[in-house]
Amino acid sequence: MLLGAPGSGKGTQAEMITRHFGVPVTSPGAILRREKDLGTDLGMETAEITQHGGLVPDKIIVGLIEDWLRLHGGHGFVFDGFPRTVPQAESLQSILARHRTPLDLAIWLEVTEETVRDRISSRLQCRSCGFTTSVTSATFAERPVCPYCDGPLVRRNDDDVDVLQKRLAEFNAKTQPLADFYKKAGTLRSIDGNRERDAVFADLSRLIEQNA
Ligand code: AMP
Repeated sequence: MLLGAPGSGKGTQAEMITRHFGVPVTSPGAILRREKDLGTDLGMETAEITQHGGLVPDKIIVGLIEDWLRLHGGHGFVFDGFPRTVPQAESLQSILARHRTPLDLAIWLEVTEETVRDRISSRLQCRSCGFTTSVTSATFAERPVCPYCDGPLVRRNDDDVDVLQKRLAEFNAKTQPLADFYKKAGTLRSIDGNRERDAVFADLSRLIEQNA
């Protein structure tokens, strides 16, 4: 699983893991954005919370993960942005025990607040497949089209300075305690996420290969 602050690179690295290792990824944030675009009850119910940077109730998120595992479960998967609270991590332990699947690694992408602010203020994301890039990338600034699926590259509506404040507060209060949780479990590994994507991915790949 990939853990870290908003803008720490979880989504980007998760996508690189899928492309490189062929392992499926699940991201509750991406699922909720899709549900909202589709106008489903779940999407509408949670839009208000995500838009303002709050965390969606644990019960809803755990339900999404259980459904996803039922469909894709088995061997090898990556969680991007899950768990985000201690109760979610506890639920995950029981779910994985039921699936007889151990959790190999909890990888924490360490970033400074400066990195977070820089990335969030310039992030562009594909509305269709979730590919993430930056408005500072000349290729995409002029033609905001996803290189993988031709979807539109847009700013996320929660990537705004005020909402970021709330997301960081939620992260510090509710997600940061997971570092201790996974340190105690012996699965925590930290990577310097302030570097460019390929350098981070090189470290990440090494960790994954060592654990294979
Ligand atoms: P992300 O795409 O991971 O940045 O998530 C976007 C938003 O979806 C978050 O700010 C939350 O509102 C919601 N969300 C995503 N994952 C979780 C989670 N594990 N627990 C609660 N809310 C979540």
